[in-house]
Amino acid sequence: MLHNSNFIDISLNSRWSAKKVNDRKLSKKLDYKHPFFQDISVSYREHFNSKEAILNRKLEFYNSISYTVLKDGQDPIRLKIHIGDIVELPEESEGIAYAKVKSIFRYQANNGQYYAFFFFDWFQATNIMDSVLECPFYNIQKPEESRWFQIFPITFIDRNPCVFFIHNCGNTCNTEHDEENRSYILNRYYYNAV
Ligand SMILES: [Zn+2]
Repeated sequence: MLHNSNFIDISLNSRWSAKKVNDRKLSKKLDYKHPFFQDISVSYREHFNSKEAILNRKLEFYNSISYTVLKDGQDPIRLKIHIGDIVELPEESEGIAYAKVKSIFRYQANNGQYYAFFFFDWFQATNIMDSVLECPFYNIQKPEESRWFQIFPITFIDRNPCVFFIHNCGNTCNTEHDEENRSYILNRYYYNAV
């Protein structure tokens, strides 16, 4: 698997069974009805500069991915990213945007090469601060909100995650967090301390 010469030693870990893929309401077959189809087509064109139609129809999903990033004047960085990790990405209007890794998958391009992608749920800034913690509230996007692009090649993440969001627990969170409650607090203090 190859993305570019600065992303090496890529290994995908714990491939999902067909049952697990189905349980997550996904499909290993990429057809026009697949929720990823539009994003993959665009991603493929934009990031790999390919105008060819997508030929291959098979997706493979994984629990985590490891890779090494080489940058000029730096020691190589070994990254390991799991589903559920929260990452930061450069964003034009907000400077930094935050997202949770929802899926990790690979796709075989027309040239026979495999490429790995992340599927993200984005955190939306609310401009509301927690008065005690003085940390900002964010809302994680709802599954049906698809106005943002959600699929990115792994080259968008070139450092290990060090972002800390705390669920803004209400009385519906008990032994498990209530995922219907989409409010989170960005813990800036922890973040700055890293
Ligand atoms: Zn909670």
